[in-house]
Amino acid sequence: MSRKLRVRQAQTVLPFGVGAVFDIQGESFVATGIGDWPRKRPEVHSARLADQLGVSGFYAAPPAADDRYDRQDAAGAPYIRFPSWLFCGACRRMTRRRIADEKPGTPPRCPGCSPVRQLAPMRFVQICADGHLGDVDWWFWAHSRLAPAQRHGCPARDRLRFDVSDRATGLEALSVTCTARGCGASRDLLDVLGTHGMRCSGRNPWQRLDEAADCVKPVQVVQRTAGNVYYPVVSSALDIPEAEVPADAGREALAERVRASDLWIPLCRAAGGARAGTYRDMIKEDTGADDALLDALLAEETGIEPAPAAGGDGAPAGPAVPDLSREEWAAFTAPVQPPTRDFAVRATGLGLDGETAEPWAGLGRRVGRIVLADRLREVRALQGFRRVSPSSTFVPADTSRRLRWLPAVEVFGEGVFVTLDRDELTAWERDRRVRDHVAGMREDLSRSFQADRLAAVTGEELSPRFVLLHTFAHLLIRQLSFESGYSTASLRERVYARPEHDQHGVLVYTAAGDAEGTLGGLVQQGEAPRLAETLLRMTEAAAWCSADPLCAEHTGQGFDSLNRAACHACALLPETSCETGNTLLDRSLVVGGGHVPGYFEPIIAAARTAAAAALE
Ligand SMILES: [Zn+2]
Ligand SMILES: [Zn+2]
Ligand SMILES: [Zn+2]
Ligand SMILES: [Zn+2]
Ligand SMILES: [Zn+2]
Repeated sequence: MSRKLRVRQAQTVLPFGVGAVFDIQGESFVATGIGDWPRKRPEVHSARLADQLGVSGFYAAPPAADDRYDRQDAAGAPYIRFPSWLFCGACRRMTRRRIADEKPGTPPRCPGCSPVRQLAPMRFVQICADGHLGDVDWWFWAHSRLAPAQRHGCPARDRLRFDVSDRATGLEALSVTCTARGCGASRDLLDVLGTHGMRCSGRNPWQRLDEAADCVKPVQVVQRTAGNVYYPVVSSALDIPEAEVPADAGREALAERVRASDLWIPLCRAAGGARAGTYRDMIKEDTGADDALLDALLAEETGIEPAPAAGGDGAPAGPAVPDLSREEWAAFTAPVQPPTRDFAVRATGLGLDGETAEPWAGLGRRVGRIVLADRLREVRALQGFRRVSPSSTFVPADTSRRLRWLPAVEVFGEGVFVTLDRDELTAWERDRRVRDHVAGMREDLSRSFQADRLAAVTGEELSPRFVLLHTFAHLLIRQLSFESGYSTASLRERVYARPEHDQHGVLVYTAAGDAEGTLGGLVQQGEAPRLAETLLRMTEAAAWCSADPLCAEHTGQGFDSLNRAACHACALLPETSCETGNTLLDRSLVVGGGHVPGYFEPIIAAARTAAAAALE
């Protein structure tokens, strides 16, 4: 029997990147740290992303020729068996598999019975909020109902059986029993999920014992396929032609105000001292500058780099949070340049110029520039991961913390870039009802553990245009998928909505594979007059959700209650398509509802009137 353990190169960042646990043909593996990667590996170029992430460069996993994970000299990203506790479906004997037991190209077989019997991985693993992952201590579990003295009487730690009873259902039907002579301790798995005071191993399965941290975080037992086992931290950059990015006028003016402050020189002198915090707060209040700007200006003035933000208990700093939006926005809004191998775009429109009939005229007024990208190159790098929750301790892709590169893949694709009309948008944003509505979301966001992470996408302060454009991107992806046959999972969004950089658009793109070519299907959807029709149908569809009125009236749904009128039935996307983990969405800003005027609301009414008139 020959095995095919296929992990495509493009999947070595997502979804099977460092730290991910996954099943292939009844076996379960974990992707190891990049310290174990083969020396020979192709480089992936993206100077811009490397700069932003503060790393020396990127490498891709070499394409695996024979699809075998377990040969010493195998190419490809390395994976090791995890969990190491396996069981036999026939005799129920449990076996702890060590790396030395692996036989290249053969799945593990039961040592106790028929040699064709393949062992299955245990369904449960343990994780902690510091990003560690380990086997459940099944011996402890079987003996956990005994007093410590009795427990110590057990003569062996590896004689276990994983029983299944037909007298019960669910987890209650499962139990782990010690088969050591004279012991027989046993416990069912009814309440195995959760925290049980078991100790954390302080490491991930590929790390050596001497790399283990002294971890005191409570460990949780979870299913190995549970969503909270792995939260990858991925950053990506589009390849754009090197161009002068226009100076950021708003930020320059703010910097001038900071330097003109009476407290600026005292702050520079006191940097790091006791008074610095007070000066800083006063300058921030007077000028409206934020910490990032003050840090940058202080570093310029004094040469002292700000201390890296570290967790309170000396935990390692989180990942670098890049802002790639400015240059990309500039590239899409600049006059079109001759195509390059990695960036080929053309400007078009909705084809509604001179249109006076509603709803088309109204749609044309609200939409700005359309740019079709026939070819895009995107580099996606895996910075690391988290476990338990998206705000837990960050674990870098190099768990040895010696390497300065990151694993990455390059993907080619195509896209449709849409901006909203700047003046219409500004006018809509000035409406007090819109501002009040988004202020409520901003408050929820500031209370969320995700605030820092999301600020990397939203900009310094959550703005109405971010929520509008983000929801618009989701609705557009859903509509395009409906009309073009692309799956929503193959489409992605990039939201350009930082008011401080005067951004007001979105890119919907596909960059799905390691294939060189793109099909052109998405760009076709962006041609006139098709896109205008798509946008109109999208808007009409968004006015109603099958979960209404519940969905429409929601004051906080989704993760950390960061969504308003947005649910699985109307606006959510697969995780991989969304930059914010499906948060900060609200249909009412697009189509209106409750007490908020929607940006596209007037064209829905116009479309209905037009449709009624056509019927008569
Ligand atoms: Zn067996
Ligand atoms: Zn025992
Ligand atoms: Zn731990
Ligand atoms: Zn809904
Ligand atoms: Zn999204």
